[in-house]
Amino acid sequence: MTLTTRFAPSPNGLLHVGHALSAIFAHDTARLNDGRFLLRIEDIDLERRRPEYVSAIYEDLSWLGLTWEEPVLVQSEHFKEYLAAADKLIATGLLYPCFATRSEIAAAADPEKTDPDGAPVYPGLWKGASGEQVGARMAAGDTPALRLNMDAALKVVRAKRGEKPLTFTEIAEDGSAQTITAEPQRWGDAIIIRKDVPASYHLSVVVDDARQGVTHVTRGRDLFAATDLQRLLQELLDLPEPVYSHHRVICWADGRKLSKSNQDMGLRALRDEGATPADIRKVIGLA
Ligand code: GLU
Repeated sequence: MTLTTRFAPSPNGLLHVGHALSAIFAHDTARLNDGRFLLRIEDIDLERRRPEYVSAIYEDLSWLGLTWEEPVLVQSEHFKEYLAAADKLIATGLLYPCFATRSEIAAAADPEKTDPDGAPVYPGLWKGASGEQVGARMAAGDTPALRLNMDAALKVVRAKRGEKPLTFTEIAEDGSAQTITAEPQRWGDAIIIRKDVPASYHLSVVVDDARQGVTHVTRGRDLFAATDLQRLLQELLDLPEPVYSHHRVICWADGRKLSKSNQDMGLRALRDEGATPADIRKVIGLA
């Protein structure tokens, strides 16, 4: 099988050196292995995406000297496929509608229980809701999110795998492989279809990694815990399992993360100041 990697930015801001590390890491991994390098625009957040950020992604990556296969997959053109995948989970009773607002969840949640992103674990407000309760909200014109019934999902996985735990393979920078046990339960009843758009980050990623034949998911360490939930979805949807490499994340010396919003270490800004692609490779330690 041809080793296939991807860089999957969200066009919600300009790229910074952290993105350059992810993109170059994925690109070089593919090129060193005679593999394929794909680009995917993860623009399901219709409120935050901007067309000028999409063009900036193409421009900045070309400036870095990267080339990728065409056509580029643009997620907002594929909502139907994400819904079709969700339908499979609905058919096996694994999703349920939830109308709770952020503040209702915050008020009911156990402050001790947070998911790996630091958000409160969903306190199950709509888990046992009756058809009438759901129907009444639908009739009032409200749209629910669809959440994964985590307990039921874990039962399905146990029935499928028996004693074999859900795992993934993490390939370190030196090429060594490690088997990691996935712990999707720490995400609780995660949102699989959002209220505002017919998709979610985790669902669209697993559908697209499979559809595009991605064999090696390379991305920052900040997404390491997301892999637990994504492996669970792959298992529930009978999708192939890629291997993973979560690379280090570039931070400021005091540990703060770089952010798109204030353009810390933005590629545009550095280029305007006279930096070259070789300088960027030096900054991210991939010279
Ligand atoms: N779109 C995600 C981001 O920009 C990356 C998704 C992934 O690599 O799995 O953070």
